[in-house]
Amino acid sequence: MQKIIIAIDGYSSTGKSTVAKRLAKALGYSYVDTGAMYRAVTYYGLKNGFIGTDKGNLRALIEDLPKIELKFRPNSESGQSDMYLNGENVENAIRTLEVSKYVSKVSTVEAVRRKLVDMQKKMGSEKKGIVMDGRDIGTVVFPNAEFKIFMTASPEKRAQRRYKELLDRGEQVTFEDVLKNVRERDHIDATRKISPLQKAEDAIVFDNSDMGLEEQFERIHDFALRVIGKQ
Ligand code: C5P
Repeated sequence: MQKIIIAIDGYSSTGKSTVAKRLAKALGYSYVDTGAMYRAVTYYGLKNGFIGTDKGNLRALIEDLPKIELKFRPNSESGQSDMYLNGENVENAIRTLEVSKYVSKVSTVEAVRRKLVDMQKKMGSEKKGIVMDGRDIGTVVFPNAEFKIFMTASPEKRAQRRYKELLDRGEQVTFEDVLKNVRERDHIDATRKISPLQKAEDAIVFDNSDMGLEEQFERIHDFALRVIGKQ
């Protein structure tokens, strides 16, 4: 059966990656978390003092872009892929609220987007059979993806999920800070000049405010099988 490209876009903490990972596994496809790539560049900027300090300097981060090497490598324990930044496993380090606070700003930088979108397009051209999630996958990275989903849920529901995730990972955060971050990222992601977060015309909308993971997965999986069957 012919393999396709599945693009999953949507607001932060809508559970895109949870569904995308499961879908990729069920179909025998690879999964690419593009948010992890923007997070890794942000982490690099924070670590090198290019952002998050009084003297923060995005220009310095842009100049350093050629030095930033990103790779996904399989993790045999989790069965998923981990993000490596210049050879270092940063899978956990990129998921903190600190990185979340700066990532949307870094993602507005044209040079950053150009580098990461080029890498993402290459992943799709090398082989089909990909589930990729992000903000601009159905609109910019793979406008011809055979199956596109746009996920959304209320900010409060999303912040609740994210808050629980961060607490489970041992971070000291308040619900108010997490909700503020979700709202700020929504605003920056949806209003930026380059590749803003928007629904592709041919994407199917999933509002999962009141939908459990199981139901969500089953519906999306069904849709995907129908699209694949038509190829
Ligand atoms: O998906 P995740 O929430 O980890 O993404 C972190 C941030 O990276 C988003 O809030 C957005 O600013 C940026 N991003 C993006 N384009 C993508 C994926 C993520 O701008 N394709």
